[in-house]
Amino acid sequence: MKLFSIFGDPVFHSISPRLHNNAIRNLNLDACYIRQLVKNGDEIIEIFKDLRLDGANVTVPHKETAYKLCDEVRGIAKEIKAINTLINENGKIIGYNTDAPGFFQAISSFKNIKKALILGAGGTAKAISFILRQNNIDVTILNRSKERLEFFMKNGFDSFHWNNFNSNNFDIIINTTSAGLKDENLPLPIDILSQIMQNASYTFDVVYGRRTPFLQLSDKYNLQNKNGQDMLLYQGIIAFNLFYNNKFNTSVIEKHMREALTF
Ligand code: NDP
Repeated sequence: MKLFSIFGDPVFHSISPRLHNNAIRNLNLDACYIRQLVKNGDEIIEIFKDLRLDGANVTVPHKETAYKLCDEVRGIAKEIKAINTLINENGKIIGYNTDAPGFFQAISSFKNIKKALILGAGGTAKAISFILRQNNIDVTILNRSKERLEFFMKNGFDSFHWNNFNSNNFDIIINTTSAGLKDENLPLPIDILSQIMQNASYTFDVVYGRRTPFLQLSDKYNLQNKNGQDMLLYQGIIAFNLFYNNKFNTSVIEKHMREALTF
């Protein structure tokens, strides 16, 4: 039997077990996906080994700590310097980032994107910025404060904070901040955001489960928009296939995981 888990703090709200277990059940696999509260990120690999896991997902706030603890990191995670998926490959712990390709798949219906504005400069912004750049999209980062911009500047991204930003020509605006997650806040003062939206075509909010003030405002400008549900779904599908060495058709996994979203 294979055993998988998600590690995070908090982790009780995570719907990853629901997505993975529904795929496991419908594919008749001998496996189970659990959730594990981990307070100290430094213990992640130890817990992974103690539980004899085959694979795991890592969520807030441990993605960057877990990156440092893997035996090997593959793919775009090497640039992002954060992982959300761990695989046990013959005793060796391999780290991947599936948030980045998951996001890119989620925006596949948005066409002709050349310039993107990312609001926020946390872990999610890192994943999204590198996958956009890998796909030849010009990325600008805009954050409330300047402290977190250093990583992006070092990596060659145009990076601004609210007080030195003066541009409004972007095809897509992506909210990676937690503004609107549990409050009625916009991720940027309304006058600046409205100006940028006037010239944009698309908006994307990584938050899911509620219509955020950011997406509500973008409705007023008739922008095509999406919330973070598909990003969550696709990162899960990619992780599931990594757990099983890419042996399943992604559309089959998608069918079962999408069904679990309705439970
Ligand atoms: P971090 O804590 O790493 O970063 C948060 C960022 O948001 C910071 O740049 C912070 O700015 C900014 N911020 C926070 N509050 C506000 C506010 N009121 N106004 C403006 N800016 C604000 O978070 P993560 O990147 O890890 O996660 C961000 C969100 O993404 C979470 O809501 C998470 O649930 C979601 N997420 C969704 C996924 C999906 O699959 N859909 C996957 C991963 C995450 P400052 O530096 O000034 O403090």
